[in-house]
Amino acid sequence: MENSNIPSNFIKNIVIGDLESGKHKEIITRFPPEPNGYLHIGHAKSICLNFELASEFKGKTNLRFDDTNPVKEDTEYVESIKEDVKWLGFEWDNLYFASNYFDTMYEKAILLIKKGKAFVCDLSPEEMREYRGTLTEPGKESPYRNRSIEENLTLLEKMKNGDYKDGEKVLRAKIDMASPNLNMRDPIIYRISHTEHHNTGSKWCIYPMYDFAHPLEDAIEGITHSICTLEFEDHRPLYDWFVKECEMEAVPQQIEFARLNMTNTVMSKRKLKQLVDENYVDGWDDPRMPTVAGLRRRGFTPESIRNFCREIGVSKGHSLVDYRMLEHFIREDLKLKAPRTMGVLDPIKVVITNYPENESEVLTAAINPENPEMGDREITFSREIYIEREDFMEDPPKKYHRLYPGNEVRLRHAYFVKCNEFFKDEEGNITEIHCTYDPETKSGSGFTGRKVKGTIHWVDAKNCLPCEFRLYDSLILDSEEEKESFLENVSEDSLIIQNGYIEKNMENVKPQDKFQFLRHGYFNVDIKHSSEEKIVFNRIVSLKSSFRIK
Ligand code: ATP
Ligand code: MG
Repeated sequence: MENSNIPSNFIKNIVIGDLESGKHKEIITRFPPEPNGYLHIGHAKSICLNFELASEFKGKTNLRFDDTNPVKEDTEYVESIKEDVKWLGFEWDNLYFASNYFDTMYEKAILLIKKGKAFVCDLSPEEMREYRGTLTEPGKESPYRNRSIEENLTLLEKMKNGDYKDGEKVLRAKIDMASPNLNMRDPIIYRISHTEHHNTGSKWCIYPMYDFAHPLEDAIEGITHSICTLEFEDHRPLYDWFVKECEMEAVPQQIEFARLNMTNTVMSKRKLKQLVDENYVDGWDDPRMPTVAGLRRRGFTPESIRNFCREIGVSKGHSLVDYRMLEHFIREDLKLKAPRTMGVLDPIKVVITNYPENESEVLTAAINPENPEMGDREITFSREIYIEREDFMEDPPKKYHRLYPGNEVRLRHAYFVKCNEFFKDEEGNITEIHCTYDPETKSGSGFTGRKVKGTIHWVDAKNCLPCEFRLYDSLILDSEEEKESFLENVSEDSLIIQNGYIEKNMENVKPQDKFQFLRHGYFNVDIKHSSEEKIVFNRIVSLKSSFRIK
């Protein structure tokens, strides 16, 4: 990948240290999503970190599905995650499923029992909570803690064979009920769940807990640096305990960093799933969603997301990233790549009364003036055009320089036109404007006779394409108040649909093509709803923002 050197950060420094000291010859990282939803921009941060770190030091990265909780997992999510990682520009060295290690994990559980380090417990979940103690009080040992090794082996076997109902028994590690770290107070290793698994079917009715499964998965794959988010910091002693007591050959090191949080978003698969299931949005890939699929459909590019992740960096300090920073990176990426064009979102017809009827001419304009290599495009001009409704005012305030009765403006790439007359319907809406044009003022002709203050965009009414523009605003409104549910912060008007017209030269656009519409911003042709009959554009971002990168 181009420019593979990632900015210095504390994790990179650990890796450099480990390579220099000879602790590792090669580093191996992994991205370990649970397939219980689509990936979001927070996951993108973790993906970039793991893949770019390994690639910079010529190491490896595995994509591993952490599929140990069959209730919430689904192959639809497995497929979407693979697609998203690839789309972001990364290639995994190995594709693994944690569920393929269930046999090994079970053997390790038996090993723990044999070493006197695990026991089968019959306490109910409520009792277990009671016995657990609090941050200030030690817990109490389970009355089942001293079962014999033989009894524990038999009970675990029976758990595995389906002799008990969900929740009747669990396998627990035997560590220390008085530990100041609650995670070390005899945590659960296996639970009973009579649920079909997307990979192992009905083979298992006991499933390993995350804290037990994850360190084993990492060790089995020889992961050297197991990077996770800060909420697992307190789990690290347990992670190390399982690696040691299960006598794993490889010893991975868990390193925690701060998760990405952004303004105007929710960043949890559970909440995002709720937005989908309760129809607040049009699926996981709704262009307002902070999912990778949503950002892609909105029109973000992999480069913009990678550059954003680089800029936000990696640290242990919590911070809230401004959503506008992500927008900054898509503007930067599209500035030179996206063709410029004109589109009228809310059209009003203008008749140029002194332009000959049934005539038309071809004007040329740069496809992207900032990138001359992209060449020119042709735009037709004739007696009838559309302009933006907001570009005309019957009775304008002082500093309004666009079209109004008696005023002259420049039509971008065309001529000066002057408004002489306008018409209204019974409700007072403007229906048509009559102008005259001055042939001397043709764009590119070098005309210097007089100046006008306003320039507006337009499309040729006889030679244009109808289309739909979808303009988005934040789906989630940030609020200081505590609300019962984040759903109370969902915006009521995060989508505005407008029907307008675009230049005829755009008739062959394909889904995911991106354009800069003059004055309106960057737009992307929608993957789901755009068709030959009707092109649908998603606005990615407007042209300007007050946001500045420090
Ligand atoms: P969620 O709460 O959204 O479901 P998760 O952490 O449970 O997130 P996983 O599928 O378990 O989701 O995560 C896969 C990897 O992505 C983990 O290593 C996790 O630490 C990382 N990750 C998840 N959310 C973020 C975030 N907001 N910022 C950075 N990394 C994240
Ligand atoms: Mg999770």
